[in-house]
Amino acid sequence: MDRIRSIRVIPLIRKLEQVFEGSTYRIVSRNTLFVRVETEQGVKGEAFGGDEDIYQEKVVRVANEFLAPRLIGEELQPVEKLWEKMFSTQGLPFHNRSIHTLDMVNHAILMQAIAIIDVGLWDTLGKSCGKPLAEFWGGSRNSVPVVGIGGYYRPGGELELRQEIDRHLELGLAGIKLKVGRCTVKEDIRRVEFIRKNFPKDFVIACDANQAWTFGQASQFARGVKDLGVEWLEEPLRWFDQMEGMKRLRQVTNIPIVAGQGEISSWGCRDLILNGCVDILNVDATIAGGITEWRKIASFAHLIPFAGCDS
Ligand SMILES: [Mg+2]
Repeated sequence: MDRIRSIRVIPLIRKLEQVFEGSTYRIVSRNTLFVRVETEQGVKGEAFGGDEDIYQEKVVRVANEFLAPRLIGEELQPVEKLWEKMFSTQGLPFHNRSIHTLDMVNHAILMQAIAIIDVGLWDTLGKSCGKPLAEFWGGSRNSVPVVGIGGYYRPGGELELRQEIDRHLELGLAGIKLKVGRCTVKEDIRRVEFIRKNFPKDFVIACDANQAWTFGQASQFARGVKDLGVEWLEEPLRWFDQMEGMKRLRQVTNIPIVAGQGEISSWGCRDLILNGCVDILNVDATIAGGITEWRKIASFAHLIPFAGCDS
């Protein structure tokens, strides 16, 4: 069996000419990580992932200085065993103050560092077997409908939204994942009404609040758009009310509730499922420990009748 010779994670940053904003964030640059893995038999895996900004440097340092050296010389397969080795790494430079609830950033840095190496390992394994990973994992679809993320509250209002969606249609996209939560709830309802009224009936509208709302605001929005065919409502509630709040929200609306993008592990996703907080999980593999962790989450979600996983 082939062994790992080297792993290198490289940060990439592109300053944007135009800043864009969602409900709870502002993007001034696009960041990502690139990973290159090489084996002793000369197989080269390459992948990119993640969009961390302020902690990018720390993620790269943990990946290159603490995780990668532990894997050099190890057999490439099974990747799950390599994942466990990374996950059990001790002595990371986080200066833990033993105030565990304040350590979430550190945990998130570790999981992103694991993630970027993990996706590189899977790419390497796929290449060494001569198969695309989708095929390697038994995937049977040749295509999936794609929605474009949009509605970033540009100054042009409805005119700009119309132009944006015209472009989505030109590109053959199935719909839009509309940013909501930055303006008033009433204005956001009007934006959804505008799209539903002015574009084809089968144009998919999903809404993503990026954890902007209180329970009251989220339920007001859900009531306001209940007849507008919203496909799902993503991360509706603020960061501190993910469990009980979303569980209650699911009881007052038929719109499927989505979360998981803010989770960094399979355990967090397990809790969302077992507590009845979500209809669909939208886990980001580059945040939540990579493809190895994502596959565990997807398998678990598949077994639960009220939850799915939007692979
Ligand atoms: Mg989202």
